[in-house]
Amino acid sequence: MADLETFRAETRKWLLAHAPASLRGMVLGLGEGNWGGRKATYPNPDMKVWLEVMAERGWTAPEWPTQYGGGGLTKDEAKILREELAALKLPPPLVGFGLTMIGPILLEYGTEEQKREHLPKIVRGEIRWCQGYSEPGAGSDLASLQTRAVRQGDYFVINGQKIWTSYANLSDWMFLLVRTDPTAEKHRGITFLLMDMASPGVEVRPIKLISGSSPFCETFLTDVLVPVKNVVGKINEGWTIAKALLNHERTMIASAFGTGTGRRRTLREFARKYLECDGERLADTALRHRMAQYEMDALAFKLTTDRARDAATAGLPPGPESSMFKIYGTELNQRRQELLVSIAGPQALGWEGPGFAEEELALTRDWLRSRGNTIEGGTSEIQLNIIAKRVLGLPD
Ligand SMILES: Cc1cc2nc3c(=O)[nH]c(=O)nc-3n(C[C@H](O)[C@H](O)[C@H](O)COP(=O)(O)OP(=O)(O)OC[C@H]3O[C@@H](n4cnc5c(N)ncnc54)[C@H](O)[C@@H]3O)c2cc1C
Repeated sequence: MADLETFRAETRKWLLAHAPASLRGMVLGLGEGNWGGRKATYPNPDMKVWLEVMAERGWTAPEWPTQYGGGGLTKDEAKILREELAALKLPPPLVGFGLTMIGPILLEYGTEEQKREHLPKIVRGEIRWCQGYSEPGAGSDLASLQTRAVRQGDYFVINGQKIWTSYANLSDWMFLLVRTDPTAEKHRGITFLLMDMASPGVEVRPIKLISGSSPFCETFLTDVLVPVKNVVGKINEGWTIAKALLNHERTMIASAFGTGTGRRRTLREFARKYLECDGERLADTALRHRMAQYEMDALAFKLTTDRARDAATAGLPPGPESSMFKIYGTELNQRRQELLVSIAGPQALGWEGPGFAEEELALTRDWLRSRGNTIEGGTSEIQLNIIAKRVLGLPD
């Protein structure tokens, strides 16, 4: 315990000495933060400085082993680091699918060569990753995917189309699922690959969303060559890895949307700004009750998420119970966005132009964006099927 207290004191001292002052108190909106990669831009150059000093210490991936660039911290030390970052109101130095999805998968299933090649670049924020799972005919029924990979010597030749590839236009590498044996039963014959987005034959086309932004892309693959050494796990056995990655993804989504980002003000601050108050209390009783219920549920969810993280055995990956967190966290965010729109009323109905503050325009867009929360990473109906089958053990 004394060691942990020493670690806490030293961590705080180090953070105070190295974190750029301009970042203290910065609250990141949805999808904001430093995603790194070759195409990263830095409107605030201190974000780059922050990434570099933290990466140097391996603290962008605090619990990853030091031989792959990580911080080598124990679970308890990593928790202290998170607490100290929160206490100093510092943003994470790096976010993205490298840290939350493909990194943990490579640690568990990657070859030594793959770990040494990719993990340090993720830690340093040099390479940004995207996810090539969904196809026009394969979303919920992901195992019916059709993108073909045909082996030619030391390479696979890939042909097909991915869709809804978040941030493909900004990413350097993609982890993707391809069909390597079309004669096998659909869950077999799938292989998990790592692909350089700069390879000839990769074409990315952004798709415009209802929220006005374009984080999505269609990704067309025409005779793309991917070395066989980029297979993670075994050829034709990628489905196991695909599912393991989804558990990481669902845990990340639950935490990002259920407890985390995009909270520049609390609900109460918004309510005080837009609604009539009876002293300290909101005059609208029905809305007050909805807000109180939301705040209790959100706090309970945060405590449960923290408790689950603390209770998990160090190094053990998340299992199908991640589906429970995913459903609850995403529905919680949708409730929050609905409440914000109810509170701000007509001021939350702007799209552009005068008459609306930037924060108000963001309310409309965040509310629309939250509709996708119960679809991305697998829809709520699919999560319920997983909980029924794999958590509760109910018959088909
Ligand atoms: C914001 C966002 C980001 C995304 N990012 C990515 C990404 O980076 N990479 C990627 O590969 N994909 C991404 N996706 C795609 C996402 O994984 C799919 O949209 C999702 O899996 C659902 O597939 P679908 O859209 O084809 O819907 P469908 O599978 O066609 O489903 C349509 C409806 O039918 C229901 N349904 C289907 N099957 C069943 C069943 N067996 N039981 C009960 N109900 C069922 C679904 O719940 C849904 O309501 C993203 C999606 C969103 C919204």
